[in-house]
Amino acid sequence: SSTHSIEHLISDRAKNRSFKHFAANADENAPKNFKPHPKPLALSFGRPNAQFFPVKKITVELDHYPFQDTIFENEVIEEQDLVVIDKFPTDKNDLGAGEALQYGDVSGLPNFQKFLREFVETIHKPANSEWAITATNGSGEGLNKVADALINPGDIVLFEEFTFSPFGNNVRNVGGITVPIKLNFKATEGADIDIKYLSHLLDNWNDIYPEYKDRKPKAFYTIPTCQNPTGLTQSTATRKAIYDLASKHDFIILEDDPYGYLTLPPFQKPNKETLVSENSLQIDDYLENHLPKSYLQFDTEGRVIRIETFSKVFAPGLRLGFLVANKKIVEVVKKYSSIVTRAPSGPSQLILLNVIQQRFGGIKGWLQWILRMRLAYAHRRNVLIDSIVSSSAYEKEYIKVISCDAGMFASLLVNFPEGTTDIVDKINLLNYKFLEKGVTVVLGHKMSVNPEFSEPNANFLRLSYAPLDKDEELTEAGKRLGEAVEEFFENGF
Ligand code: PMP
Ligand code: PLP
Repeated sequence: SSTHSIEHLISDRAKNRSFKHFAANADENAPKNFKPHPKPLALSFGRPNAQFFPVKKITVELDHYPFQDTIFENEVIEEQDLVVIDKFPTDKNDLGAGEALQYGDVSGLPNFQKFLREFVETIHKPANSEWAITATNGSGEGLNKVADALINPGDIVLFEEFTFSPFGNNVRNVGGITVPIKLNFKATEGADIDIKYLSHLLDNWNDIYPEYKDRKPKAFYTIPTCQNPTGLTQSTATRKAIYDLASKHDFIILEDDPYGYLTLPPFQKPNKETLVSENSLQIDDYLENHLPKSYLQFDTEGRVIRIETFSKVFAPGLRLGFLVANKKIVEVVKKYSSIVTRAPSGPSQLILLNVIQQRFGGIKGWLQWILRMRLAYAHRRNVLIDSIVSSSAYEKEYIKVISCDAGMFASLLVNFPEGTTDIVDKINLLNYKFLEKGVTVVLGHKMSVNPEFSEPNANFLRLSYAPLDKDEELTEAGKRLGEAVEEFFENGF
């Protein structure tokens, strides 16, 4: 694979950032016949000896299944459930507590970096060989690093019109400008990014945005699977088409993919036994046929940045994730990390890595856990959607399910009668009904990049089946939602 130059897309700030360290290591000014001692004794570092750390051993006890006592209550448990991590493991190849509690590399501890590399090579091998990886403190933080690496004041970043809007804050924070593109997510078939719109926009940039004349977008921020908040998942054809546009119009693709591992089997009436028995995939089948392809797999030119996180598949409190990008970009990201964030938390890396290696037996075992999680989510989705489609608001077609086939979000259309105006005001009023009935949702328009641009599409809701504890609560939430909509429609609005 060739290396296409992307250096012109790196921000001036990142390119020119200076980083100085005070270590008195040999440098280019060393005398001619200088010969360093092979094993010098360190009086240099300000890092405390690990024997000062009060922790001797970390023991982690694990659950075997997500929702073990409810969804997987019939499963026989054979595996060991304790992970014991010594301060100084006897096997020097293991990541011990002593090393993890110490200062560490900004890109992650060596074993963690090795794991990440193997993970990416197994699952989303980049088409371009000039890639590198760095750990981050989750994708929210990874995205901020990317904004710093790319955006000069006045640079344009394209966003899906409804999106994980906090990234807009990061882009504006470095002087960037957010521009929305259209999603045809309410199409009955093939709901996806509106490629025609995007292509036309890029071909006619100066006419459509004269205020941004000759400043074509530098990047496109996209959430390709279970798009937050619309729930849509891009087809492989869409991904390829977008990559081709990126190549033609010379922009970077920022692939933020927290939900990509959680593609779900189609909605069916809730039934735990049949769900588990009919949908127990083999890893190879999952990787081949159910896991959507990363943009990295089309990235012959090194213009994709994939931002991942362990927040949704492990736990958000770890504040741990990673990003994969062209080496040149990872280089500037690492410099930023050295100055701003420093290394990600060692104990977070320690727990994650030792759980995956000792308890799950590596990457395939880790994917098994994710597959169980996928079924647990599918069940919860089935319970919520079943409750909604059983409501009279649904029967009367006041609401319609737009999408519920991946991740943790379903999206719901509120079907206002033809000719209804002031959609945003109406949706806001409906929200008071939800709050009175006792159910909270996200209003689609609250996640719009440009409210005016997206006003006609604002009549949708994002529902998460992630946070509630019990099936009965999900059922009740769906019922309250249906009742609120019905009263709102029938009492006049
Ligand atoms: N300030 C001073 C004066 C230090 O000596 C050090 C550590 N060498 C730091 C800050 C950085 O400490 P921390 O590990 O909390 O980032
Ligand atoms: N990106 C998207 C699309 C998300 O939905 C979220 C979480 O809600 C994040 C990023 C933030 O993830 P993290 O916890 O890794 O910062």
